[in-house]
Amino acid sequence: MGDSSSSDAIPYHPSTLAIHADDDLATSAPATDIAPPLHTSTTFSYPGDPAHLVPAADLTSAATYHIYSRHTAPTSTRLELLLATLIHAPTLTYSSGLSALFAAYTLLNPKRVAITGGYHGAYGVLGLHTRLSGLQVLPLDCAESELRPGDVIHVETPVNPSGEARNLAHYSAKAKTVGAVLLVDATFGPPGLQDPFDFGADIVMHSGTKYLGGHSDMLCGVLATRNQDYYAQLLKDRLFLGSVMGSLEGWLGVRSIRTLELRVAAASQNAEKLVLWLSGCVEGATQYPCVEQMGADVQKVVASVSHASVQSKDDLEWIRKQMPGGFGPVFAIMARSEGLARRLPSKLRLFGHATSLGGVESLVEWRAMSDATVDRKLLRFSIGIERWEDLRADIWNACKELILEGV
Ligand SMILES: *Cc1c(COP(=O)(O)O)cnc(C)c1O
Repeated sequence: MGDSSSSDAIPYHPSTLAIHADDDLATSAPATDIAPPLHTSTTFSYPGDPAHLVPAADLTSAATYHIYSRHTAPTSTRLELLLATLIHAPTLTYSSGLSALFAAYTLLNPKRVAITGGYHGAYGVLGLHTRLSGLQVLPLDCAESELRPGDVIHVETPVNPSGEARNLAHYSAKAKTVGAVLLVDATFGPPGLQDPFDFGADIVMHSGTKYLGGHSDMLCGVLATRNQDYYAQLLKDRLFLGSVMGSLEGWLGVRSIRTLELRVAAASQNAEKLVLWLSGCVEGATQYPCVEQMGADVQKVVASVSHASVQSKDDLEWIRKQMPGGFGPVFAIMARSEGLARRLPSKLRLFGHATSLGGVESLVEWRAMSDATVDRKLLRFSIGIERWEDLRADIWNACKELILEGV
């Protein structure tokens, strides 16, 4: 700890970086905290040496010292350093995922955005920009001739609420051909599962509220980009948008990143096992012991399962390359009726019935509750880090209770 040169020399594993990439920002004597302190100050003393005073207008990157917390603050900066190491690009944090998205569209100010499906809130943000600038929304798979340089291709992957992956290499090639910017909402595929920069992303956005926070207790948005002009402008814009994260959220975020890799790997593996089991039940396959008995019950309630791990064989070829760390902790099922979808959450004991995702606890949502655009038979599952067999038993039990009620 504390020897910054060693981190340059040794290519540490992400799990080590998640604990040590911010060591240089750790408190020095006389305070010797091991856990990060929580700084709540909004304003910070300027350097004592007049030679080190840099007027705000001359700053091009995050200051080497802090001035005012609407610009930068110690705990958020510490989180940004950790995130930059794990996301593989300079990173800024925002007060929420949607304020990050608003900042990205304020930076890019495109005439057209190609986007289909995915998180419904993104359309709210685009609606604000349509009001301000006349921005036009086109389908994600619109013809190349409909896009011009400076337009945006907005790809969410894996996509809400189905948990299915979209082919970044395909959309990156399309963006290059027309001179568009590829913006990737990678919320459902946090670091450890995929790196959208390896597949041509220009800007990667996360709702840090989900896996980066990981405990359902902080709102956070993230933008990362390797384009230095973008980064410098985003930093300047954020000062005036005012959409910085609070100090407590920055502190919670640093605490959370320590376990990001463990949490995401465990949740993703749990989801993959549950999806394999559920799709086995639906299809009458018998990969797992007891699936025959469970399958008959599950089949009466569940019509289909969607997740990146059960996409077509052709898709799985590129998905395995794009998501080398796992297929993600969110999947969806289609219940056999709207009534079953409405009632299933009330039968589950280990799954909270709530919106959002990405916490250590498993959640289920009858998605019609918060998204008017989805099929009313759809249930979205956000899998946590409980023992997967317990989650399986809970789902099976819920199906049996629904059957007893006469389905
Ligand atoms: C939750 C979510 C957002 C919005 O993030 P907030 O932090 O709630 O503002 C954006 N995109 C996706 C895919 C999300 O799941």
